[in-house]
Amino acid sequence: MIVEFMTFAFALGSLLPLGTDSLVRIGMRLKPISQEERVRKMASIMGVKVDRVYLREGKGINAYSLGGLRNVLILERESMNLPDDQFRAMVAHELAHIKMKHTLKRSIVLAVGLSVVAALSLIDKLLLPSFLLVFLFDMEISKRMEKEADAEATRFVDPKALISLISKYGEVGPLSDHPSAEDRMRAIERVTGGP
Ligand SMILES: [Zn+2]
Repeated sequence: MIVEFMTFAFALGSLLPLGTDSLVRIGMRLKPISQEERVRKMASIMGVKVDRVYLREGKGINAYSLGGLRNVLILERESMNLPDDQFRAMVAHELAHIKMKHTLKRSIVLAVGLSVVAALSLIDKLLLPSFLLVFLFDMEISKRMEKEADAEATRFVDPKALISLISKYGEVGPLSDHPSAEDRMRAIERVTGGP
C-alpha cells in the first residue's frame, strides 16, 4: 500500500517539467535496465512512446508505469526472471496504462477531488466524509483502469499469459486500488471470450 501511494506521488511528480525524471530515479533508487530492447519492442508493437525504462531493486514481481510529460516504466528485478510470455504480458499491461493516459487522468481526478475537500474543510464536519468519498472514488477509478489496461494488453499478448501473471501477483488487500486477482481474471475472460 505504501508503495502504491509512493508510486502515485511519483506519478504526480512525473507531470512536472524537466528534471523530475532524475528525482524519480534517485527517490526510488532505480537503475538502468539491461534488457531494455525487450520492452522497447513491445512498446513499438503497441504504438506507445516510452521515454525511460528502469529496474528497481525491490521484492517480488511487479511493474509500474508513470505517464506524464515523460513516460516511465519501472520493473522490479524479480520480474526479469518471468517466462517470456508473462514478461511481455506484464510490460503490455503497463504500456496500456501509458497509452490510455491513466496516470494523468487519475492525477486530475485526485487533484480536483482534493481541492473540493480542501474547500469543504472550511465546514468542520464535512472534512472526513468528503475525504473518504474522494478516496473511495479514486479507488474505484483505479480498479476500472486496471481492467482497462488488462483488456488492452490482451490485444497484443496471450490472455493466458496475463492470467498466469496475475495469479503470481497474489491476492490484494481490502483497501487496495487494484481489483482482486479473481475479478481481473474474470474480466479478461469476458473480453477475450472465455478461458
Ligand atoms: Zn496496472
